[in-house]
Amino acid sequence: MSLTETAVSDRFRDLAARLTGSVVTAADQDWDAARQAWNLAADQRPESVVVAADAPDVVAAVQFAAANGLRVVPQGTGHLAGPLGDLSGVLLLRTAALRSVDVDPDALTVRVGAGVVWGEVTAALAPHGLAALAGSSPDVGVAGYMTGGGYSWLAREHGLGCTAVTAFDVVTADGVQRHATADEEPDLFWALRGGGGNTAIVTSLTFGVFPIPQVYAGMILYPIERADEVLHAYERWTRDLTEAATTCVRLVRVPPMPDIPEFLRGKAFVGVDGAIDLPDDEAAAVLQPLRDLGPAIDTFGPLPTAQLGMLHMDPPGPVPGLGDGLILTDLTEGAIEALLDVAGPEAQTALLAVDLRHLGGAVARPAEQGGALDHLAGRFLLYAVGVVADPALVPVIERDLATLRAALEPWTEPIDYANFREVKADATRFFGPETLDRLRAVKAHYDPQDVIRTAHPLG
Ligand SMILES: Cc1cc2nc3c(=O)[nH]c(=O)nc-3n(C[C@H](O)[C@H](O)[C@H](O)COP(=O)(O)OP(=O)(O)OC[C@H]3O[C@@H](n4cnc5c(N)ncnc54)[C@H](O)[C@@H]3O)c2cc1C
Repeated sequence: MSLTETAVSDRFRDLAARLTGSVVTAADQDWDAARQAWNLAADQRPESVVVAADAPDVVAAVQFAAANGLRVVPQGTGHLAGPLGDLSGVLLLRTAALRSVDVDPDALTVRVGAGVVWGEVTAALAPHGLAALAGSSPDVGVAGYMTGGGYSWLAREHGLGCTAVTAFDVVTADGVQRHATADEEPDLFWALRGGGGNTAIVTSLTFGVFPIPQVYAGMILYPIERADEVLHAYERWTRDLTEAATTCVRLVRVPPMPDIPEFLRGKAFVGVDGAIDLPDDEAAAVLQPLRDLGPAIDTFGPLPTAQLGMLHMDPPGPVPGLGDGLILTDLTEGAIEALLDVAGPEAQTALLAVDLRHLGGAVARPAEQGGALDHLAGRFLLYAVGVVADPALVPVIERDLATLRAALEPWTEPIDYANFREVKADATRFFGPETLDRLRAVKAHYDPQDVIRTAHPLG
């Protein structure tokens, strides 16, 4: 151990003594594991990592940071580690050990710790026939997803995930534990529902769930050469689609990796996946126009909601990714053409997937008594991603993401969905002026020294 490393450790000794969890610094053997985000492309180098075991550990970390001129970055999984950038002067607060999941089947609520991922919630809800407004990937963290908004396979029927949140337990920048609901700390409650985690560190949250044991769900795939025809058909299909259907059309170039099923490996598709919350025969009738196109693969059928996490073929574990997102006002002839030019069958692109998730329905209606993000305007939520299999690919993927964004600029909403922007972006891209002013006022009240820093700061 070098002298410098010893000094680093000494600096955090007082903090370590207060914790049930631990502090990990560059002097420790488990440093690389502790600082590793889910997104393996993020090379996180904070001053130290605090592995919190409970809410008092979060209090200790925040108090220590405030007293020592450091900042705290809360992180559950690190799915959104990309935009964090330089972490010098930062305590990275890992919350993964805060893992409680308490289902109340009578109240139709669940309370989860800040380290819980969606797969744990859906598994706990399954025996009760309940479903949450969960993201497409079982290992996305509930806290980051909910504080950023939350688009689920039930979104068009039940709205954004954060609109179902009824309470947060938090630690504010002054090191005080607070309970935020519509009645207690209402400004904090408002800000945390879609305004990001900028105003407080969540230690647990409670949200409503729905008695939906099963949906009609799956994916249908066509060869990517049919992208033009399928995108047009999908656009027509979604024009007056029932709100019970939440689907996504996507262009996917499946990598030739051995753990991917043979029928998909190394192939490129245009496909539609999603869920329809209707009785099977009605759902099948809704889907029929897409089936009439004659897909190469069709897995749609009755599916327990707990298995919706398998639908989108999201990676089962950490990967190095570089993604970005935007919201399309519409999918006009011109927009389809522009999309196909940069990501269609003829395009040379490093983008593994370009997804267009269908908006409208309950997602489009401002939720009653909603928070900082109470709806999403626009017709389709786009997310595109490339896999950084080699660092040399970073500029290539960045270029392809920028090309895609530029091509679709005429159809892009002025407001983006923060959870899908894995790059740095100005706060004015995420909130209208009034909402941003109010979020900044809440931040100034609860965190005047700007101790808490997150993936997308308020600027
Ligand atoms: C493979 C994949 C699939 C995805 N699928 C979906 C999807 O279907 N729908 C959707 O809406 N989004 C989806 N996302 C985006 C996802 O919602 C965001 O990346 C989200 O921020 C992840 O939260 P996390 O806690 O896992 O990540 P982290 O990187 O741990 O956290 C991200 C940010 O959330 C905030 N945060 C996290 N924990 C706390 C806390 N305890 N207190 C305060 N703030 C906190 C902070 O701002 C932090 O910077 C997906 C992302 C990936 C990579």
